[in-house]
Amino acid sequence: MHAIGPATRRAAGGELDELLSLWSTAMIVIDEDLCKGCAICSELCPSGVLGVSDALNAKGYYPPVVKKQRECHGCRLCELLCPEFAIFIVNEWVDDVAS
Ligand code: SF4
Ligand code: SF4
Repeated sequence: MHAIGPATRRAAGGELDELLSLWSTAMIVIDEDLCKGCAICSELCPSGVLGVSDALNAKGYYPPVVKKQRECHGCRLCELLCPEFAIFIVNEWVDDVAS
């Protein structure tokens, strides 16, 4: 377990807080070429994080795009509902780094 104290935060200025705010956000990974464009993920994301790309993937479908990365709270609903396993969330390591 790592700890980042107030002195370190002060020494690093705003840049560290900016980095930590990014780390506190789940990382959304999209394998565009597995996607079949059903839009379940973008329709059902409770935070409206995902939209639909205006570019076709290799199979001729419109994959999701991340519109509001910072709004993602890592619930994994998109990952669980995707029938093609084309989207997943990486967030386990965040707690370890930021706490
Ligand atoms: S993890 Fe949850 S909040 Fe984040 S993009 Fe997926 S459904 Fe939306
Ligand atoms: S749920 Fe999966 S297959 Fe459907 S649009 Fe999202 S990433 Fe593509």
